[in-house]
Amino acid sequence: MSSVELRKVDKHYAGYHALKTVDLTIEKGEFVVMVGPSGCGKSTLLKTIAGLETINSGHIVINGRDVTREEPGDRGIAMVFQSYALYPHMTVAENMGFGLRMANRPRTEIDAAVKRAARILRLEEQLDKRPKQLSGGQRQRVAIGRAVVREPKLFLFDEPLSNLDAALRVNTRLEIAQLHRRLKATMIYVTHDQVEAMTLADKIVVLNAGRIEQIGSPMELYNAPANEFVAGFIGSPKMNFIDGAKLGETAKTVGVRPEHLTVDAKSGAWKGTVVHAEHLGADTNLYLDCEKAGLLTVRIFGVYNAEPGATLYATPDPAKTYRFGADGRVLK
Ligand code: ADP
Repeated sequence: MSSVELRKVDKHYAGYHALKTVDLTIEKGEFVVMVGPSGCGKSTLLKTIAGLETINSGHIVINGRDVTREEPGDRGIAMVFQSYALYPHMTVAENMGFGLRMANRPRTEIDAAVKRAARILRLEEQLDKRPKQLSGGQRQRVAIGRAVVREPKLFLFDEPLSNLDAALRVNTRLEIAQLHRRLKATMIYVTHDQVEAMTLADKIVVLNAGRIEQIGSPMELYNAPANEFVAGFIGSPKMNFIDGAKLGETAKTVGVRPEHLTVDAKSGAWKGTVVHAEHLGADTNLYLDCEKAGLLTVRIFGVYNAEPGATLYATPDPAKTYRFGADGRVLK
C-alpha cells in the first residue's frame, strides 16, 4: 500500500494551464476517484502521478519519498487504461504474465502470479483462451489482471469502464470494488461518470478546469456540496437551480435535488404544469414548468401518473434546500 501526496502541482501544456496548484493527500489503502467533466485535467493528474507527464512545479510524494523526478518504472505503480490493448495472438495467461516475462522473472513465479490474479478476477476458466473469445468485460478484467500480477502498491485506473456497455460496466465496477477490498491496495481512479465515483470511492476529488473544487466522501459531497459546481455534478438527475430573485431570496441561486421535491395536485409552494413524465418503473421523473421556479425535475419513488398539461404543485424540503452566493459558493 502506498500513500500519495501532491503538493502544489502545476502543469502547463504549450500555453494551456491544465493543473492549477493541486494539493491532495491520499491515504494508504484508500480508493480515490477523480471526477469532473471532459477536459478538466483528470487524466493529466493521473499521468503526473504515474510519471508519464512531467510537472512544471510542485512535488509528488509516494510513501514519503519525493518521486517528482523519478521514471515511471521506479514508482511502484500499475496503470489500467480505457483501451485494454491486449495482444491478440497471446492467451489470457500469456497476456497477464507478459510484464513479468519482460522483467525476466522465473517461470514458476509468473505462473503463480497469473493464477492468483485469475482467481481474484474470476478468469480461471479463461486462461487458455485468446482475447477475441472473451466478452468486453472479461477483456477489461484481463487488462486489470496484467496490473494485478505485478503486485503494485498503487493502482491507477483511467476510465477503465468507458468502452463497456451498460450492463458490463455495472458488473466490472463491482469486480473493481471487490478487488480493492481483497488487495487492500491504494487505488486512484479517473472517470467523468459521477455514478462510478459515488459507487466506488472512499474519497472523491471533484475537478473543474484544472482545479480541485471539493474533496470528500460520496455522502459528504451529496449532502454538503461546497459550491454550485459540485452540487450540479454529483447526483442524478441533477440538482434543480432556481434564480433566487424569482423566489424573493437574497441568494443568487437556490438549489434543490429532484428527490427532495414532493408534488400535490391541490396545493404546494410552486404551481406548475406537467411537461413530461419519464416512467422508469422504480421511480418517475416529472418535468414541471413552474410559474415561479421555472422548469423543475421532480423524482418520485415508484409509479406516478401525470398527464402533460396537468397542474401540479411542487414543494421543496426546506432542510434539503441549498443557497448559493454570486460566487457560486454555498451560503451557510
Ligand atoms: P480529462 O482527462 O479531464 O478529460 P485531460 O487531463 O486529458 O482532461 O486534459 C486537460 C486539458 O489539457 C484539456 O483541455 C486538454 O485539451 C489539454 N491537454 C491534454 N493533453 C495535452 C497535450 N499533450 N497538449 C496540449 N494540451 C493538452
